[in-house]
Amino acid sequence: MPDAVFRPPYIPGDIFTPDRDITHAHFRPGDKVVVIKGVAGKEVWGDAYKVVTPSWHTPTDEDGWRLYDANGGDRTYITAHPRYLVHLSRRCPDCLIYLRAMEDYLLPQFAGSNEAIDCGWYSLTRLNQLVHVHDARGNR
Ligand SMILES: [Zn+2]
Repeated sequence: MPDAVFRPPYIPGDIFTPDRDITHAHFRPGDKVVVIKGVAGKEVWGDAYKVVTPSWHTPTDEDGWRLYDANGGDRTYITAHPRYLVHLSRRCPDCLIYLRAMEDYLLPQFAGSNEAIDCGWYSLTRLNQLVHVHDARGNR
């Protein structure tokens, strides 16, 4: 996946992730996953992680997963909510449906762009909790 990321002044809302219905048990330690953050050319783009162990996701007060980021530097381990994650390691109908929905929604909005674009939906807290902009509302 490309490194160079262009953050546009216009951020399309992520209308699928906040309403995604996926259980914590859908994921297991060792799973390879990606968090969709934008588009790159004609594909959706994101960061890849390995699921490590259950971990409390404090921004939502729900069960999350600790993720290992091989390129994370001092943020090698972060915690994310299950609905942020998409399976890379196996053909998974639940995750594919979500991925297709994101593609159908996002790709037409960036048609013709060859840059990797981070839509700016996610941020990391001081405690390395990955939080979606939707979940960050209300300063939880
Ligand atoms: Zn899945």
